[in-house]
Amino acid sequence: MLPFKLIYHERYDLNLGPHVFPSQKFRLVHDKLLNDGIAELDDFLRPEPAADADILRVHTSDWVQKLKTGTLTHSEQMKLEVPYSPELVRAFWLAAGGTILAAESALGNGFACNLGGGFHHAYPGHGEGFCAIHDVAVAIRTLQARNEIARALVVDTDVHHGNGTAAIFANDPTVFTLSIHQSNNYPAHKPPSSLDINLEDGVEDDEYLAALLPAVKQSIEEFHPEMLFYVGGADPYGQDQLGGLNLSMTGLEQRDSGVFREARGRNVPVVTTQAGGYARRLEDTVQIHVNTILAAKRIAASVIG
Ligand SMILES: [Zn+2]
Repeated sequence: MLPFKLIYHERYDLNLGPHVFPSQKFRLVHDKLLNDGIAELDDFLRPEPAADADILRVHTSDWVQKLKTGTLTHSEQMKLEVPYSPELVRAFWLAAGGTILAAESALGNGFACNLGGGFHHAYPGHGEGFCAIHDVAVAIRTLQARNEIARALVVDTDVHHGNGTAAIFANDPTVFTLSIHQSNNYPAHKPPSSLDINLEDGVEDDEYLAALLPAVKQSIEEFHPEMLFYVGGADPYGQDQLGGLNLSMTGLEQRDSGVFREARGRNVPVVTTQAGGYARRLEDTVQIHVNTILAAKRIAASVIG
């Protein structure tokens, strides 16, 4: 039995068919956690789709309506880069419900891991780069509205800049956004996060960790967040098809445990989400996401919360 909950729904799959985004990874991570004996059935919580009222805390009613009725324009569809389907929309609503549920759970347990979500390219009024609904932003705004947290820190380690996150919280002093990413990669337009760590192509483990971990420590100590939302992309991996950094699987594990240690050592609850991962071998992407859960398990055991 894990000392925290895993959030998962079998309909997280975005129903994409053959696509560079392997959305079957959500199920594969779930299955591997069970098959490897890392988790038991009782460790899982099953989310409901987020309420529209909560989605609307972040997104425009126009965008929500277009998603619900399948009336995206051609250019909106092209920007989203995943084919529209009712299943796709349901999956995004479920992912947002999952991150809300994870945040509620982390308040009590110190950790919770959504085995989905991290859709950090979604903007209030449009979707981009496989992301239609910004689950992390919806969860932050929802917990703030329920008076459960006031201040949140987003640590985004996906290889791509967290443009949606930066845009949503640009003028919000209650949310600190930190993105570490490859400069020379999507998105072309990178609105400023509270703190952007722009990396050159080919950066390896040591340089990456030396840039990230002190920044996370300083952000926590100076901003005093009441929750850390971790966008844990698997795509800084050296074998990723859409990433140009060169982290090893070990380096990615050190990244996860390092961030978790900084937060849990200061009693800040941590919510993890998955975000991108496009390794040439799908099993590598799955293993990297599973390793995030193992890192959380290790840190949860080593820190008195
Ligand atoms: Zn990415």
